[in-house]
This record gives sequence, structure tokens and C-alpha cells, in this order.
Amino acid sequence: MLNQLPKKVRIVEVGPRDGLQNEKSIVSIDDKVTFIKMLAEAGLLEIEATSFVRAEKIPQMSDGCELNARLQSLPELKKTHLISLVPNMKGMEGALKAGVKDIAVFTATSNTFNQKNINATIDESLVRIEEVMKVAKANNIRTRGYISTVFGCPYEGKTSLETLKRVAHKLQDMGVYEISLGDTIGIANPLQVSEVIDFISKDFNKSFFSMHFHDTRGMAVANILSSLEMGMTSFDSSAAGLGGCPYAVGSSGNVATEDLLFLLQSMGIETGIDMKKLSEASQFILSKLNRETPSKYLKAYLSSGR
Ligand code: MG
Repeated sequence: MLNQLPKKVRIVEVGPRDGLQNEKSIVSIDDKVTFIKMLAEAGLLEIEATSFVRAEKIPQMSDGCELNARLQSLPELKKTHLISLVPNMKGMEGALKAGVKDIAVFTATSNTFNQKNINATIDESLVRIEEVMKVAKANNIRTRGYISTVFGCPYEGKTSLETLKRVAHKLQDMGVYEISLGDTIGIANPLQVSEVIDFISKDFNKSFFSMHFHDTRGMAVANILSSLEMGMTSFDSSAAGLGGCPYAVGSSGNVATEDLLFLLQSMGIETGIDMKKLSEASQFILSKLNRETPSKYLKAYLSSGR
């Protein structure tokens, strides 16, 4: 089995956006800048920093423009891809004003989820994405795609693999550089993960996907291992496991970067990330949020130093 594991894995850090968006305490712009600088210092090269959504909808993300300006002015972040989530043309206008170089667009494999999340069916969301991506391309902005509810939907239950294939092809045709496959409610199991990867790899290169697991039911690390065995080499995670699960109140959401990193490092898989510096970044943001981490690794590290 160990022979089949990759030698190197890439981690996309989503804590400052996907994580903080689901945290109640509002973090100041200075603290966000410090947090992102510390994450980059730990070796994370791709960091989802903010989103351009309506401020009244998600107050935590209302400083996207100013945050981007601050981050872009820092020489130590010149090599870091700072990704901003963009839901529509209005968001794209904000992202353009802020001079972002990397955006992410999102849809799902469930019509009900998309309707509740962004008030659009899957096909309507693809029309919006196409508009956004035309502008992105004209401005040399790289675009990452997200597909949510790949392993299950809070409203529809199991979702269709054919829909996944169709949506992934559309996003690829529009020019996204990769697609993140989201287990939005943390319902996937390792066997299902291997089946989904087997299915999509008939049509796509495996390196076109990043796996985005949530640890809501404690399955994230098992699902990551299953993905590694299937040849996947990119994963999304959130420092300290920031962000809860809106579909299961009080539960954890994104898998913690520390738990992912410990799994990889302890099996000798290279990531380029420094665990100590990452844990310091997490400790910093946890102190600002005044909360404990759901990360098993980080809890052990904070009490034992390893
Ligand atoms: Mg997430």
C-alpha cells in the first residue's frame, strides 16, 4: 500500500476564507493580515484569503478590498497565490478593483443546495460563472472551481455522478485551472471516495482535482488516505480546523491543516510546510476568536509540545 502513496502533496489553505466565514467573532483586518502572513511563513503557497460577497450577507468578509490591498503590498507575500471567492459579476467588479490575481468560483451537484446557497440552479450558476470567467481571462486572473455536495447534499441526499461529470466538463471548458471537490456536509466514506475518484478519472486527469473534505463525522483523515491511495495529490484544509458546519450546528467543518499535515508528514510525504510555524499561526487566530480547536493534532501539540 505504501508504495502507492505519492511522494509529494500540495495543500491549499482555506482557513482565512472558508474557515473564518463560518466563525461568529469578527476578526480585525490587522489580525487577518498577520494570520495570512504567518500561514505563508509556514510554507503555504496557496491561501484562500477572502471573498467578494455582499457585506450584509457575510459581515466577516466585508473587508475583501482593503484586505487584498494590504496583502498585495507585502513583499513577503509576492510568491503566495491569494485566492478570493467570487460568486457573481458584482463580486468580480470588487475583485477587479482590488487587483486580485486569483479567484475561485463555485457551484454544486445539487440544485436544491445551489438554490438555497446562491439562489440559482446549477445551470443558472454556470451562466454566472461563465460571465465572471470571461472578465477574469481578459484580465489574466487565474480561476479555481469549486463543486460542492459531491458526496452528499443536506437537502437531496446522494447526488448524481453524471451531474458531477457534466459540471466538471463545463468548468474545464470555461478554463478553470483546477476543481476542488467538496464534501460539504462531511458525509463521505473512504469507499465512496475511491468510487468517485475512479469515476472522474475516466474523463479527467487526477491532477485536475483537489479534494476538499470536512471532518463533521470524523471521516476526513480516512477519506484523505483513500484519496492518496487513488493517486490524488492536492487537498484543501483549514488551519486549526476553522469554520463550523452550518448544516450540523456545533460540529466541525473543514479538516484541520494540522491533521492533514500530520498524516502526510508522519508517512514521509513531502509538503514544504513547517508544522511548528503552522501551529503558531493557528494559535494566533484561535486566541483572536477566543475558541478551542477541533484539530486532534493541534490539541495534542498544545498540551504536549509534539
Ligand atoms: Mg469547506
